[in-house]
Order: sequence, then structure tokens, then C-alpha cells
Amino acid sequence: MKLTYKYRLKPLPQQQIIFQSWLELARRQYNYRLGERFDWYEATRSRVDACPLVVSIAPVEEIYRDIPLTRVLAKGSRKGEEISNFQEQGYLNWHSIQLSDLKQTKTLFPDYKQLDSQVLQDVVNRVEYAFSRFTKPDANDNRSGKPKFKGQHYYNSFTYTQLHNCDIIKDERGKNCVNLKKIGLVPFVFHRPIPDGFEVKTGTVLREADGWHISLVLEDKSVPVTVAAIQPTEENSLGIDLGVENYIALSTGEVVEHPRFFTESARKLEKLQQRLAKRVKHSKPWKLLKVQIAKLHQHIARQRLDWQFKLAHWLFDKCDVLFIEDLKLKNLTKRAKPKISNEGEWLPNGQAAKSGLNRSMLDAAHGQFVQVLKWVAYKLGKVVKEVDPWGTSQHCWSCLNQVPKTLSDRWHSCECGEECHRDENSGRLIKKIGLICSIVRADITSLKTAQRALLEGKPVLYA
Ligand SMILES: [Zn+2]
Repeated sequence: MKLTYKYRLKPLPQQQIIFQSWLELARRQYNYRLGERFDWYEATRSRVDACPLVVSIAPVEEIYRDIPLTRVLAKGSRKGEEISNFQEQGYLNWHSIQLSDLKQTKTLFPDYKQLDSQVLQDVVNRVEYAFSRFTKPDANDNRSGKPKFKGQHYYNSFTYTQLHNCDIIKDERGKNCVNLKKIGLVPFVFHRPIPDGFEVKTGTVLREADGWHISLVLEDKSVPVTVAAIQPTEENSLGIDLGVENYIALSTGEVVEHPRFFTESARKLEKLQQRLAKRVKHSKPWKLLKVQIAKLHQHIARQRLDWQFKLAHWLFDKCDVLFIEDLKLKNLTKRAKPKISNEGEWLPNGQAAKSGLNRSMLDAAHGQFVQVLKWVAYKLGKVVKEVDPWGTSQHCWSCLNQVPKTLSDRWHSCECGEECHRDENSGRLIKKIGLICSIVRADITSLKTAQRALLEGKPVLYA
């Protein structure tokens, strides 16, 4: 089992200077390595239907210009095996090329000798990760966007890939310190102990609005990582509906209201932004205000995360299996499609109302909440199951028939006699769909599957 614990670092002034300079060096290295990858990508890519499969489009000499032949591998061949005809077999493992090129970097730019080698190698690992997420889809067929070159304020961490429990020690004055190679003992606030049996694996130094932090990855190999197999039943499961009016509505009829941290702090933020606008850009007062604003944003984010964790634990106290909607939040917060009349005029499309809705949806950070739920479930050995949200607000939980509503209809009343709040109905329906689909062991957990299963008379539910 892996955990991440975050601690506040209290670096000495000279250590802070080292941190800053390392970050800048790492950032430049990142941008350079990313640039190398892009050059290659641009030179060799082609349309799928025009792909020549064996021959490169750009002249081969041009592409392999700076790469020694020994680094060009045939697909599947071992490292160092030289091939004469790379025109047919040429295949590059950029990750290993860039890793071995770091030696060259250190001779050309002696500044990089200050950096710990793990930290420098991790920069290349990050490029590899960003690029592979861009070019290859993952298991769920999702891809990231094109990686970006990082500006000064967008590269805020570096990683030691090999830390150990013995690196957390006390200095001669009895202060808790973490021992970072080539930097030395950095004091930190050891506010919670490392749990028994866990080993420190990696440490990432982070620059945040209110100072420096270190995030440690801990691992205990003796705790198996298994997804708990719990058969959901009427008693041990809950369905929740994530909403805008209420944060969540439970299938039991309870609702949890929005915390509205952001709305509360919004006025504060607004005033700061107004003051910022009157300052001269990049002047000292401007920079000070910028820091204040960043700290406020950080404060809001932390409040929200803390609240979400508490809510998740409260939910799992009540149940073992939690059914939630499989939200596609990006689609939900899209801008409304423009409407154009026959005469070519722009018609109102409701974007103003949608903008407000989007803001409160992003404020609610339901996506983050789902992540928190999954994480808490993993730690407690409980289960989160996602249900396709299609139709969950438009159908009756009791009879599964369609009851059309607009966004402003808050009450659900069905011909079958069911009367309840709209969100409660969704919560109950999500639970019902989840239960039916897990009983018939359907591949897709959706309303349609549940309806079909009921038609075939398979499960005996709510008897
Ligand atoms: Zn009904």
C-alpha cells in the first residue's frame, strides 16, 4: 500500500537559495528535453493514411543527426546492439537516450554538477511521462494534451527518487530534519509520525504560496493492494447524487449542503484583485499583493479538501458500498453552443446563466471529491462504484419510468405515486441501478441495463 504524507519544510536561508536555483536549473533542463522530443515528433510524424510504415518522411540523416548510431535500436533489440540499416528498423528509446545524455549536459554546463543526480534524472522521467501521456492513450483511452514548456512560475517541484527512513533524523540540537543529498539536513515540522511498517520511498520538494513543503511517498509491501470484493445489498450500500443546489443528496433522503468556501472568500478576493489592478505591474506592492492572493487561493483549496475528507469518512461510516455518478465534468462545464437565427443574428443561448452554474460546479470540485472518495474507500477497504448518469434525473426511482423535468423543476412527482425531492430521487435511482446491475453482474452499470434486467425479471429487489 502506498501513502503520501506532506510536511512543512523550514529551510535555512542558504538552503532556500539552493532550492530556488535547483528549480530554475531543473526547469531549463525540462524545457530543453521537451524541445528535443518535439523536434523529433515534428520531423517524423505524418498523417495516419499517409504513413510509409518503414521509411521516414524527413531525410534520415537529418533526424539522426545528433544521435550516435549506438543509440538507435531496432524494435525489441537490446541496448547497444548496433544496426546498420536503421532506415528500416530505426527505433529510438528517447527516455534512455536523454538519461545517458545527462553526462554531456554536466560537462557542457557545469552548473548542473550542483544538482543531485537523482533529481536531474527525475526531470527526464517527467518529460517521458508527459510525452507518453500525450502520444499514447492510457487504459481508459484517455490522453493528455500537448505538454507545455514551463515558465518560471509553473515549475515548482523537484524529486528525490531514493529516500529512506534513515534520512529522517534529528540534528545535534534535537530538531527533526530530513537529509537531502547535496543540500544537507533541512529542518521540517514532523507533525505526524511515519506509520509502522511503512518505508519512505521518494521525496518531492514543493514550492507553494506559503513556503516550502516536502511530500513523502511511503510504502508498505506487506499490505496487499486488493480491491475489496463486497457484494452490495440494500442495507450496506448508499447512492449519492452530486448536485448544484445541494452538494450531495443521499438515497436515504439526507442532503449535505454546499460549504461555499469560495463564495465566502470571493468578496475578499475581489477586493484584493481590485487593489492589484491599481498597482504598477511587477512593482514591489504588486508582488506583495500577488502573494496575498495566492495564499488566499491556497487557503480555500485546503479548506475544501479537508471538508471533503471529513464528508467521505462520514459517508463510509454509514455504508460499505457507495454508488456515485460517473461524471464527465469537462462536458458539464463546457460553454453553451451559440445559437444563430435564420437571419444570421445571434440569439440568447443561456451562457450567462451557464457561467454562474459552471462557477459553482468548479467551486464544488465534485471531480476532486470523487477522487477523495475513491482514496478513502481504498484505505478503508470499502468500494466506490460508478453508475452511468444518463437519465438518472429524468426517471423515477420506484418504477423507472420517464418523468421529464427541466433544470428548474426541483420536485419529483410520478404517476406511480412517488413524491420526493428531485435530488433524492436521483440518489435513490443511482443506488437502485447499481444494485440491480451488480446482482445480474452486468458489464455496464447504466439505467438501460437495469431496465432490461427488470424486464427479463432477473433480480428480486425491494420485495
Ligand atoms: Zn414512478
